[in-house]
Amino acid sequence: MRLAARGHLCPVCIRPAPAGTCDEHGTWKPHQLLTTADRRRCGRRRWQPFQPAAQACPRCLGEVAESRTGFTCVDHGHDQDPHGPYRVDELLAPTAQRVSAAARLRLTRRRQVRRREPISVSLHLPDPARSARVVISASIVAGTLAFLVR
Ligand SMILES: [Zn+2]
Ligand SMILES: [Zn+2]
Repeated sequence: MRLAARGHLCPVCIRPAPAGTCDEHGTWKPHQLLTTADRRRCGRRRWQPFQPAAQACPRCLGEVAESRTGFTCVDHGHDQDPHGPYRVDELLAPTAQRVSAAARLRLTRRRQVRRREPISVSLHLPDPARSARVVISASIVAGTLAFLVR
């Protein structure tokens, strides 16, 4: 018997779920949990923009196809450590997929920071010069209003 890697991460928030239980997202079946390899794979995919499907593979948010044994992940259903087969209620619904995609995006960004790729981070920091301009123009408007009222 082949020994598959054991998943240990909640498929929604990608945080460790001891004994399959995430404090926030409940209890998962062992085959729904992400493995370390699944988490690593998150970084190779773009999570934005994210368009949820009607239902998705909990481990990679990929497309699933119905087979005789249940729903199998299209991309990773036949890997060494296959995703699925899942029962229909083990797939992620669109709301959970959105939360999960956001968590995967954060994870990917954090990893980019660690790899010292500061470009993606600096884009999201507020531009101090611009904020200062906004404050100045706001005070000009306020001043003008005060003048008009007088
Ligand atoms: Zn969770
Ligand atoms: Zn999958």
